Formats: sequence, C-alpha cells, structure tokens
Amino acid sequence: MEIFKSPTGNKLSCKGWQQEGLLRLLLNCLNPDIAKDPEELVAYGGTGKVARDLNSLKAIIEALKTLENDETLLIQSGKPVGIFRTFEFAPRVIMAGALLVPRWANWDYFQELSEKGLTAYGQSTAGSWSYIGTQGILQGTWETFFQVAKRHFGGSLRGKLVLTSGLGEMGSAQPIAITSNGGVAIVVDVDRAIVKKRLISSMIDIMASSLEEACEIAKEYISRAEPISIGVVGNAADAYEAVLSYNIKPDVVTDQTPAHDLKSYVPSDLSPEEARELGKTNPEMYEKIARDTIKRHVLAMIEFKKRGSVVFDYGNNLREQGHRVGVKDAFCFPGFASEYIRPLFCEGRGPFRWIALSGDPEDIYRTDEIILSIFKGDGRLKEWIDLVERRFAFHGLPARVCWLNYKERAVFGNIINEMVKLGELKAPVAITRDHMDAAAVASPFRETEAMKDGSDAVADWPVLNALLNCASGASLVGLYHGGGVGIGYSIHSGVTVIADGSREAQKRLDLVLKADPALGVIRYADAGYEIAKDIIKSAVFPAKAVE
Ligand code: NAD
Repeated sequence: MEIFKSPTGNKLSCKGWQQEGLLRLLLNCLNPDIAKDPEELVAYGGTGKVARDLNSLKAIIEALKTLENDETLLIQSGKPVGIFRTFEFAPRVIMAGALLVPRWANWDYFQELSEKGLTAYGQSTAGSWSYIGTQGILQGTWETFFQVAKRHFGGSLRGKLVLTSGLGEMGSAQPIAITSNGGVAIVVDVDRAIVKKRLISSMIDIMASSLEEACEIAKEYISRAEPISIGVVGNAADAYEAVLSYNIKPDVVTDQTPAHDLKSYVPSDLSPEEARELGKTNPEMYEKIARDTIKRHVLAMIEFKKRGSVVFDYGNNLREQGHRVGVKDAFCFPGFASEYIRPLFCEGRGPFRWIALSGDPEDIYRTDEIILSIFKGDGRLKEWIDLVERRFAFHGLPARVCWLNYKERAVFGNIINEMVKLGELKAPVAITRDHMDAAAVASPFRETEAMKDGSDAVADWPVLNALLNCASGASLVGLYHGGGVGIGYSIHSGVTVIADGSREAQKRLDLVLKADPALGVIRYADAGYEIAKDIIKSAVFPAKAVE
C-alpha cells in the first residue's frame, strides 16, 4: 500500500504557499496516524473520503504541484475536472461534493452513483481536506458535555454517569470530553481492535472485560465522585438493553455509532468482520438486521429518557433512522446541536482551527501562548488549552482547535499571518474550520433542528456561505452534501485560508474570517434569535445586516 503523508518544513513543492498548504492538508488527511482507512482514502465518519479514487488523488496532487498563482483547480466529488485561469486573489481550489438534485438525494441512489464512480462521499472535513484527527472534534465534544453539565447538573459531571457508544474517529473524543468535565464514562464499541487502540493511545482510561465489570467500576468511581472513562466491547443496542435490565439509570445517555450510514453500522450478533462480509455477500440481509438493531437501540434510549436520564442524539441521525423503521416517538429526545450548541452559533462562535504546515509542534505551542495572551479574560479558552496540551499528542500535522466568535477569528488570523511574516513560525499556517458552523450548514436533524422560525431545511445559507467565502478570497472553498447525518439530510460548506505571511494572505484572512462567521450571526438573527439580533446591531459587527 502506498503511504501518503504531508511534507513538512518550509521547502515548496508547488508554485506558491497557497497550493502547497492545500496539498499538505490533503496528504495530512491520509496520514495513517489520523486517517480511519487510508488505503480506501477514508479519513473518518463511516466512509468520508478525501478523493474519489487513487487515480483522482494522484491527479489532484499533480495538479496542485503545477497550479499557477492565478489559476483555480475545480474538484467534483473528489475528482479533479479542470484548471481555470482566474486571478491571484481567487481561491486556488473550489470543490463540490456528493451533491444530488433533491428528488434523488438518498443513500441507495447515491450508492449506485458511487459504485459507477460518478460521485464520492466526503463527510465534512474529509472532502474539504481539513480533517485533523480527533482533536478536531474534541473541543466541540468537550463544549457539548460542559453545556450538558451546566444545564442539568450545576456545571460539572462530577459523580455522574454518561453511557455512550462509538469510539471511532469522532466518537473517541467522548471519553476525554466527559472525564475532563468530571464525569464517569462507559463507552461501548463493537470493535475490540478499536477499543484496544483507544486504550493504547490513552483516549480511554481502562478497558473492561465485560459490561457488568464496566458498571461495577463505574459505580465505584461515582461513589468517590472521581472521573474515569471505561471502554467496553459490545453492540450499542445490546449494551443499552443490558444496562436497562440491570436497573442502572445513567445520568446521561447518547451515542456516536455511525448510524447515519446503515452500511457502517454493525448489526447485533455480528462482529465487524462478519458484518463486512455479510455487507458484501448479502447487502439486503445486512440492511434488514442493521435496521432491527437500530430500532432496539433507539427504543432503549427512549426507555432511558422515560426513566429520567438526560438523553440526546449526538449528530449521527440515529433518531431519523429509528423513525424510518417504525419507532414513532424516535424524536422524543433532542439533538445535541439545537439543545446545547445553538447559543454559541448565535454569536458566530464555532470550531475554528489552525494547522502548522511546518510540521513542528513548537509552532502550535507558540500560537497557544499568543492566543492566551490576546484573549486573557477567557477562562474557558485557558481551561481548554491546558487540557489539550496536557492530554493530547499531535498526530499528523500539528494543529489546534478553539471555538472563537465572529470578532476573535479575524483578530487571531491576522496575528498568525503576522507571525509567519516575521519568521516567528517556521512555515505558513492553514486556517480553517469544521463544517459544523453557524452559517456553514443546513441540517434539520442536527445543527438547524427546531429553528425558531421553522427554517430548519432552508439550505440557501451554506450555499451563500460558500459563495461569499469565494468572493472574499479564501484559498479553498467547498460545498457538500450529507456530512454527519448522511445523504439527503444536510448541505454544508468548508473553507480554508493559507496564512503565508504575505499582504495578499492578510487581505484574504481579514475578509474571510470576518465574513464567514458574520454570515452565521445574520442567519441566526434572521431566524429570530435575540443574541444574534443584538450582535448585528453592534458598532463592531463587520457586515451590514439588511432587514
Ligand atoms: P467511525 O466510522 O470512525 O466510527 C464508528 C465506530 O462505531 C466504530 O469504532 C465502530 O466499530 C463502532 N460501531 C459501529 N456500529 C456499532 C454498534 N452497533 N454498536 C457499537 N459500536 C458500533 O465514525 P465517527 O467518525 O466516530 O462518527 C460517528 C458518527 O458521528 C457518524 O454518524 C458521524 O456522522 C457522526 N458525527 C458526529 C459529529 C458530532 O459533532 N457529534 C461530527 C461528525 C460526525
């Protein structure tokens, strides 16, 4: 197998840092230390691919290496389709991925097209090459569990039990996010190798030999109000039913199995290997038993809710999958975004991230110092940086994630560019974000669920977001379909700007990092949220809202 890894250092293999930065991000997504299945070009999230196939990947690499500073490469669902003369300030790469005309936007038809080699599923940051491994999701997960603690338990999960599942690329952020908020986590995953991998990399504290043992250990730690994360091998549906039968009432129940995609969700009574085999030999049977398992999984979560646990869907479309197989009240528990993340989006606060293209961790530590010095009063930011520096080894290109708001992003982006210009960092830095951001996504079962004005399914916003980021001169802009919740359920956009220390980059950063989150604030103000309505009236708001 050919191993792809990002180049590091400050030597260019492309004709400019804009192209070089994007090339490094692409290859970084395939680094075996962070990618789920590099051989299949899958970065994370079930089957989220960075390129359509190996030939496309090689062609993209070649195109980026020869791309001029006034050209733009177009990528259609992971396949490069053309290079156009644009202008220096235009994006170097524009992408559209997994988009289908709405009438045809379902998994079965998508799969048919995918098998014909006509499209590819990019999830969110896999398709737009800004995936950075588990840290990318850790802060969002940490923030979610903090909001859960604040809303229901006085600000801490100390002495509280969280039952969840899925230790995959996203899901493995859960144990640290729970324990660092003080709680005890039992995390069920069907794949023994994955649970072991998370143990070795210290993403979980211990691996229990059975669910009974996991519950015993949890009880002990809860009685002492000490945090611990316990990984255990099992199928989520079986394990949740078993916990109900033990009469244990977890304080919080959620899950991050890949329920958005039946083909990745492992049915009860099968090992991951058996599931893979059945998926190939008898896909109809596979889907049937996966559906039966999802039904039991959702019914168990509803029963936990009835017994008084705080239950929420963690962004994998589990409720809709349950609803489709006949669980009428599948939506009786909420989704995490509408419940806990919305107030943050109203102030244009979202998962901002930056990646040291030098490959040198010191570049990130240096930016950590600077961010703490410029946003001194932000206690949560300090807690986060302390946590992530203590608990997290870098994998692939060193990167950092911080949830910054509409004012902070441009300030910090400009400082990073200045640091590159002054030679304080060893090479340029890529500045990007998750697609789960205020203006960037329409996803009625996740980020835009239960909007105040009922605009849950209005997908103009992410399209406007992508167009605006192109007009503002981002280095890469992408528009995607199906991330997080699967085909038919979301439209979302990605954006990256390479801070190479130049004046041109400064202009790109200033425009994009203001416009991108400001559109988010406008989107939430338009939907009637008071926090956002107040912000757009403020003198420092970087856009004029037209009402
Ligand atoms: P992944 O494919 O990397 O990992 C999924 C894990 O679930 C694997 O370890 C697998 O062994 C396990 N699994 C599969 N079926 C199971 C079952 N029935 N019982 C127990 N374990 C099972 O996926 P990921 O990247 O971790 O994403 C998980 C889900 O979260 C996806 O649906 C994804 O779309 C969604 N997601 C959530 C967020 C968020 O912000 N919460 C962000 C992105 C994606």
